[in-house]
Amino acid sequence: MDSTIMDYNLNIKSIFWRVEKLYKDKEIISRTHEGIKRYTYGDFALRVRKLARMLESKNLVRSRVASIAWNTHRHLELYFAVPLLGGILHTVNVRFHKTEMDYVITEMDDKAVFTDKDIEYKSDKIPVYIFDEKYDDEIESQEPIKDFPDIDERQGAIACFTSGTTGKPKGVIYSHRSIFIHSLSLLAQDVLGISSSDVVLPIVPMFHISAWDLPFASLMTGAKLVLPGPRPKAEDIVNLIKDYKVTIGIAAPTVWIDVVAYVEREKLDLSPLKVVVTGGAEPPLGLIKKLREYGVKTYHAWGMTETEAIATINKSDDINKMSEQGYPIFGFEISLVDAEGKELPWDGKSAGELVVRGAFVTKKYFNNPSNILLNNTWFKTGDVVKIYPDGSIKVVDRLKDLIKSGGEWISSVDLENAIMSYDKVLEAVVVGIPDEKWGERPIALVVKKPGKEVSAEEIIDYLKSLNRFPKWWLPDKIIFVDSIPKTSTGKLDKKVIRDMVKSMLNL
Ligand code: ADP
Repeated sequence: MDSTIMDYNLNIKSIFWRVEKLYKDKEIISRTHEGIKRYTYGDFALRVRKLARMLESKNLVRSRVASIAWNTHRHLELYFAVPLLGGILHTVNVRFHKTEMDYVITEMDDKAVFTDKDIEYKSDKIPVYIFDEKYDDEIESQEPIKDFPDIDERQGAIACFTSGTTGKPKGVIYSHRSIFIHSLSLLAQDVLGISSSDVVLPIVPMFHISAWDLPFASLMTGAKLVLPGPRPKAEDIVNLIKDYKVTIGIAAPTVWIDVVAYVEREKLDLSPLKVVVTGGAEPPLGLIKKLREYGVKTYHAWGMTETEAIATINKSDDINKMSEQGYPIFGFEISLVDAEGKELPWDGKSAGELVVRGAFVTKKYFNNPSNILLNNTWFKTGDVVKIYPDGSIKVVDRLKDLIKSGGEWISSVDLENAIMSYDKVLEAVVVGIPDEKWGERPIALVVKKPGKEVSAEEIIDYLKSLNRFPKWWLPDKIIFVDSIPKTSTGKLDKKVIRDMVKSMLNL
């Protein structure tokens, strides 16, 4: 029997209603090329209505529109205006090469590009609009649109391509509904617990997985939103925290490593920051401890493009549990399977592939007919994990990054974290290199902490002293480098690193 409840679309319009009607005096702060822009949700909403009129005048209603842009208020205005008109905002990774940008823009059949001036994207096929004074003036001169259509919640709103860490970029399209439900789930007390009294700083880029939906979640609850703008460095981040009293900051571990190093060097602190949300890669425990010394609690999240970012969360007070990626958030389910797809127990010992489903998990890739689901139900993450009896997951490695030595698996992540727990080490990465006898052997690249001297033997002795690894797990070689190649989203770029190590070793 049907329910008696209204069919109320969980769409961007329903978020926009709150922004405009409930929180008009709340603030958005945006660091731009021209300095700090500070305005209210009310001003923002009016700009969105004017921008929508401008899009209409350019024939960009129900269109696919690309943005190649930093976290700023102008980008945020597009986050609302494009989907409110029934279109899809395709957020293109600013760190893509021009050929990758052209590839994803052509794939999506985007009708226009909106971009920051330093990105210098050019196209001879579609118009490119640059965020500058002229752009602002053009918006200001528009008559605000009065009514937006009530878009079906299952329609697409934002598109994002994977960063191609593991191959060609693949497109995922988030729906109005998935954005609404995911944002709501993020706000829950047991997830991020963001409220209208928080000041939220999403450093995770708006060009990748819609900054983990934090702009939507923040505006939905009336939090003050601080957008860090173009290429924010540690110094910029700390200044924003201080100037605008940020309470919760969201960024990949590498960003927080830089921030903590900067604060230590400059003898500053991190107040009034209360919470750091981090994920995308496992945060080293040393980082979590340091943040704690500054009075900041770490929430460790796991997610991927295909799960609209944050899908599990660990907020444990027990530092020894913090390497776990934590519990599924609301609207999201997990299961563990072996190579044949057979279910494995949640015993904290059995390792298998994590498969997932839920209200914000993709069921396919854009423009790609392949069935990617296990039993037509579960999305295969490609992550090897263990699940503890209480439902918390622990990522062992990505399937592709596991090192197979003598027929046995070595977790590159475990070794990396162990090496990084040595106090003279800033960063480390471990990759498998072909080996005639063993199939593959682990090799480590290590960046020393500034001003510290450390030898390969010292690191191997340290690993032995941990009494955690069998002898054959220990890296065959430790190579010291000045920096480690990262992907466009700040992760260790293992594809590039493997090639680099091979050429260093003349393989
Ligand atoms: P890609 O790097 O392929 O573009 P994503 O940004 O979607 O894609 O990355 C998702 C992957 O990042 C996950 O499948 C997982 O391997 C890794 N990852 C994300 N969060 C964590 C975490 N907290 N700990 C360890 N690995 C993580």
